[in-house]
Amino acid sequence: MTALFISDLHLEESRPDITAAFLRFIDHNAVHADTLYILGDFFEAWIGDDERTPLQEQVAAALKTLSDTGTSIYLMHGNRDFLIGEDFCQRAGATLLDDPVVVDLDGTPTLLMHGDSLCTADVEYQKFRVSMRNVQWQKTFLARPLADRQLVARQLRDISMARNKGKEEFIMDVTWEEVVKAMESHGVERLIHGHTHRPAEHELKANGLPARRIVLGDWAESVWWLEVANGQPPELKKEPL
Ligand code: MN
Repeated sequence: MTALFISDLHLEESRPDITAAFLRFIDHNAVHADTLYILGDFFEAWIGDDERTPLQEQVAAALKTLSDTGTSIYLMHGNRDFLIGEDFCQRAGATLLDDPVVVDLDGTPTLLMHGDSLCTADVEYQKFRVSMRNVQWQKTFLARPLADRQLVARQLRDISMARNKGKEEFIMDVTWEEVVKAMESHGVERLIHGHTHRPAEHELKANGLPARRIVLGDWAESVWWLEVANGQPPELKKEPL
C-alpha cells in the first residue's frame, strides 16, 4: 500500500507554476499510489462549488482522471477552502474527509488534521474559525450571489493578512499541549498535518509511548509530499517547483 499526503498548495490563478507542478505530481507520483490524501488549503480560496473557474475545472478533471485510473483521493478542508462541497468532490472523484480523522496506514492508526485547530495560542483566529465553521453562516453565505461572495472573500483575506502581520512566530505555530491532547484523545502515536508551512518531523511522547508528528510543507517554493509505503517509515519528500 502506498499513500501520498500533500497540503497547502494554495492553488490560484496567479501561480500557474504551482498548478503545473501539481499536474506533474499527479502524472509522475500520484498515479502510482493507491491513495492520495489532500490535507487542506489545496486552493487559496473557495467561495462555493458553483464558481467553477477554469482553474478549478482543470484541477477537478485532472483529479477525476487520477481517480478513474485507480488512485483513491481523499480531501480535507483547510482554513482557506473549507467551503469545498460534495459537488466539487464528485467532479473530482474525491471523498471529503472530516478534520480530524483517524485512518489505518498498514496497521498504524494515524491521525490526520489540517492543523489550524492546533494553533490555539492564536485566540483571535480560533474565534474566527468557530464562526466560519457555523453551518448556518455557511448556508447563508453560499446563498448569496457569486459577486457578493467574491467581494467578502477578498475582504476576509485582507483582514487575515493584516492581522497575521503583527503576530509572533510562536502564535502562528501549533501549541505543543494541543498536539499531545489530540493524539491522546484519539489514541494514536502518529499525526500528519499541514497548515503551518513548517515541514518537519517531530518526535514526542503520547499515551506514554514514543510518537511522531509529521508536518507537510506548502508549495510556495517547493513541491512537498509525504510518502507512506508498505509499512516503511513515512518519508517527507521535496522537489523543486
Ligand atoms: Mn491552512
